[in-house]
Amino acid sequence: MMDTGSVARGIAHKRPQESVGYCVYCNKLVRRTAQAACPNDEHPGEGVQGIMWLSEDEPVPVLPKFHWGAFFMPPIWGAAHGVVIAGLVVLPLWLFLDNNIQSAVYRVGAATPFWTRMGVYFLTVFCTLASIALMTWFGRTAWGLSWRREYHDGTSSRTFENFMRRERIWYWICIVLFILLLGVALYYWQAVLPGEFLEPLT
Ligand SMILES: [Zn+2]
Repeated sequence: MMDTGSVARGIAHKRPQESVGYCVYCNKLVRRTAQAACPNDEHPGEGVQGIMWLSEDEPVPVLPKFHWGAFFMPPIWGAAHGVVIAGLVVLPLWLFLDNNIQSAVYRVGAATPFWTRMGVYFLTVFCTLASIALMTWFGRTAWGLSWRREYHDGTSSRTFENFMRRERIWYWICIVLFILLLGVALYYWQAVLPGEFLEPLT
């Protein structure tokens, strides 16, 4: 995502003050100074990424802090935004978590040795916390990632309003897909799993 070369080329013929970039230190959109840096002069210019042209009398747009679409559905949001790794990390973790909850609920019994039982419980709690932590990380970084993807070199003519509208569509697609996925999982847990023989852990 970091492409300082194209940023430098993009602002070569225009005034840096007429551009907005995403400061990775502020974690928000900032108007560039005449030196093409963040207004907070402790932040180096390389930290200000992407270009959206904006005349000096227009206010700097504000990105929302948290992207609930990316939070609920990192695999889908990520695939749509060139962050395929999000799915590669989160999907196996979800499957592993599902597996551990199954073990904790259906396969742990009186015959299960104490430490095996503890191991299953520990992994269940650990996977739950790790999933939430990763999803939260995607939720917090998603707006900045997609803004930098759209405006990486200053050639995008998409307005900020249009960018927000498109991103809100993804937001709802992800939330609806998450609800569907959760529905399928709950159905499976309620209607299918109790009828299956799951070998006890001994
Ligand atoms: Zn900054």
